[in-house]
Amino acid sequence: MKTPVAVLGATGTVGQKFVRLLADHPWFELVAVAASSNSAGRSYRDAVRWREAGELPSSIGQLPVRDCTPPLPGAVVFSALDAEVAGPIEQAFAKAGATVVTNTRTHRMEPDVPLLIPEVNPEHVALVDCQRETRGWSGAILANPNCSTAALALALAPLHRAFGIEQLFVSTMQAVSGAGYPGVPSLDIVGNVIPYVGGEEEKIERESRKILGRFASGTVEPAAITLSVHSNRVAVVDGHLLTVSVGFRERVSPAAAASALREFRAPAPVAALPSSPNPPVEVDERTDRPQPRLDLNRGGGMAVTVGRIRACPILDLRLVVLGHNTVRGAAGQGVQIAELLLASGRIPQPSGGRGR
Ligand code: NAP
Repeated sequence: MKTPVAVLGATGTVGQKFVRLLADHPWFELVAVAASSNSAGRSYRDAVRWREAGELPSSIGQLPVRDCTPPLPGAVVFSALDAEVAGPIEQAFAKAGATVVTNTRTHRMEPDVPLLIPEVNPEHVALVDCQRETRGWSGAILANPNCSTAALALALAPLHRAFGIEQLFVSTMQAVSGAGYPGVPSLDIVGNVIPYVGGEEEKIERESRKILGRFASGTVEPAAITLSVHSNRVAVVDGHLLTVSVGFRERVSPAAAASALREFRAPAPVAALPSSPNPPVEVDERTDRPQPRLDLNRGGGMAVTVGRIRACPILDLRLVVLGHNTVRGAAGQGVQIAELLLASGRIPQPSGGRGR
């Protein structure tokens, strides 16, 4: 028996990726989809402009699109809502007893909300215990980081653990799909680069510190890393590429960094999850890699690729990071977080108790 789950914002870019990934998931069954009042009341097939590869599974196409109000069937509620409306909706579901895994920015930096990359900081899940106590709800809100941060923090975690990162200088080249649908107007982006992605630089700076921070005594102490981030939107459909310069506590050679990245593995319970790639970080030594078109789908879109590891004349090392913004940076990791919760017994089953 599978655990029933629902998707809020199921008609959007991230929502459709959730639908695709949940369609034949071994542990979860998608039983409800919800979106705005423009879509509610129609069948999912009629409401969605389906843009995922492959046909929309017919059993999901027949589901009615519901309003984003609790209760919905589903022990886990994945939120892919527009951030402007997500806050009160996600809180209402947590109050109603659902485990909410959100992709929106709304709750990420709240001190009692875990901001998770399962391979990096699974111990932060314990923040949920404080959350339930302080907020008095039986459900929970757990957050997925921003799409650029998900790739950056996963790629840097092995280096931070081994050598202690003190400074980061990051430039992003972010895909158009990161802006949702219809997103950036084609006349603005085709053949162009836009040197601004609203709110992104601040999100990458503060979220990276929280994810790489230390959990102790019921709180996360942010990592003491100084970041300078430049965010750019480029004419790529999927995949965020980041060029990064890293300063460590002491000098680190490119060879030592490459071997720390290659040897990095998730803790055993995380590595065993259905969505976990093995390895989570791939190192590519070819001079012109990684590239979004060629390297995006490694590990089913869940692995990040690191290349061009070399000395930096200003900080210590330079490297390039590539991650899939709607898989590792959104729906794929959202599903992986729910798998971690289920495997560790942290998802209360609805009455009648259907579990994996
Ligand atoms: P999107 O394509 O614009 O989809 C937005 C979804 O929110 C749609 O399903 C829409 O439903 C729904 N919605 C809008 N207003 C609503 C309302 N008032 N009540 C209920 N539902 C409403 O956006 P997206 O790119 O999928 O992003 C979704 C969230 O994930 C955002 O918070 C975004 O910041 C975050 N995120 C996105 C990415 C990415 O790569 N795209 C990565 C990480 C995180 P209708 O179709 O009915 O309007």
